[in-house]
Amino acid sequence: MSLSETLTSTLGSDSWSADPERIAAHLEEPRGLWHGKCQMVVWPRSTEEVAKAVRACAESGTPVVPQGGMTGLVGGAIPDDSNAVAISLKRMNKVRQIDPADYTMVAEAGCTLLELQNAAHDVNRLFPLSLAAEGTCTIGGNLATNAGGNTTLRYGNAREMVLGLEVVTATGEIWNGLRKLRKDNTGYDLKHLFIGAEGTLGIITAASLKLFTLPRHTQTALIAVENPAKAIELLGILRDCTGDAVSAFELMERRCVDYVVKHETSIKDPFTERYPWYVVTNIASGRPVQDEVEAALGEAFEQELVLDAVISQNEAQAKSLWAIRETIPLVQKLEGVSIKHDISVPVSRVAEFLEVATKACEAEIPDVRVCAFGHAGDGNMHFNVSEPVGHPDFLSYYPVLNKIVHDITVSMDGSISAEHGVGVLKRAEVAERKQAVEMDMMRAIKKALDPAGIMNPGKVL
Ligand code: FAD
Repeated sequence: MSLSETLTSTLGSDSWSADPERIAAHLEEPRGLWHGKCQMVVWPRSTEEVAKAVRACAESGTPVVPQGGMTGLVGGAIPDDSNAVAISLKRMNKVRQIDPADYTMVAEAGCTLLELQNAAHDVNRLFPLSLAAEGTCTIGGNLATNAGGNTTLRYGNAREMVLGLEVVTATGEIWNGLRKLRKDNTGYDLKHLFIGAEGTLGIITAASLKLFTLPRHTQTALIAVENPAKAIELLGILRDCTGDAVSAFELMERRCVDYVVKHETSIKDPFTERYPWYVVTNIASGRPVQDEVEAALGEAFEQELVLDAVISQNEAQAKSLWAIRETIPLVQKLEGVSIKHDISVPVSRVAEFLEVATKACEAEIPDVRVCAFGHAGDGNMHFNVSEPVGHPDFLSYYPVLNKIVHDITVSMDGSISAEHGVGVLKRAEVAERKQAVEMDMMRAIKKALDPAGIMNPGKVL
């Protein structure tokens, strides 16, 4: 029996398609950097159906590419073999259980992040993972990439929000590890192998997730600072004065704000004066925090860390302050091509990194336009470099600029892949930069869990 006959007989004829029109959306990611190919896409409805599909692929040695919302940015979900089968988890989108007393929820892999945030909110709880793609990305993809985002500073990455997983292994077996325990020391913690593995070890079909107290009061502030060093000092004061209630702390340089107000005319320059750097921050707590935020800003003004500040008075104002930060990736495209780096360094070295990396890029290409922004509160900056105006061939500098920026990152004990994962984009560089013993351990784990090498081949490793 051919694979398509097996799938039709076990899962039904509407469970898969090889129709180029239906599968087109499964061959591209948002930036359009890769154009994939595969023999078919499968849409299972249950864990058992995922297992049957994987077993059929394993028996025929067919490569399997797990897919969620297709919002990844490193080519991880793109099948690149005309024999490959993409398995989309989109139909597995139920919240199986939600327990406010336990502060837990069990959700299937195809639920979007936004659906899970809303489900938690409905029972007066918080699921704190938050990123710009949350309406489309799935929890399966979030866990497979160990996604970060605006709230990592307070709640950690996706990994830190997981209590248990259900996984279909590379041989098509089902591992039910959906525990809800806060303490469980019974040997190797296998869930952590699948989190961040980008689909190379198995398919996550459901997760038991931690919920948190829903903050009743959130204060948003937009704060102008002279430089990143002062922003990081300000973060310390905000954390101290608010009982560590800072839940987001995003830094952006003036050039980013210039791009936003130039291209998105509904957004106005936030202050009458232009300032070199801006911070947008959320302080979220069970009790009112406005007094504490004002006290923190007062202290920061006294220490000459802050040039100007506005505190939101209502939700609409908070949204409009956040709109500046959230619009940057969209408007940067309108300024021409850019070379992007998703790096992290220890928080204490963010300022040094930004200074050294900016100077190095400007020395390499005169008139280059660094447009750095991101999650300074957890050390992750999107160090994006826009082409000099009218540059004929900026993308040819991709390897040179990457090496400059990544060498500086590594010299400051940082990571060249902070939150977007490895996929195919960074596979070769990760292999070069990691210790040989680390790569050997990763290969050994891959071999043990996926002996036939069918799970998302060519990604990560
Ligand atoms: P996909 O793109 O479908 O897949 C991503 C990887 O996970 C692939 O390797 C795929 O094979 C694997 N995979 C998917 N589902 C499963 C599964 N069930 N089991 C096993 N493997 C699976 N990322 C951040 O971390 N932080 C951000 O702040 C952030 N902001 C973004 C903003 C925008 C506008 C966009 C477009 C992307 C952003 N991203 C961010 C990247 C992306 O949204 C995340 O990587 C997200 O976690 C991917 O989820 P997905 O469901 O779209 O996964």
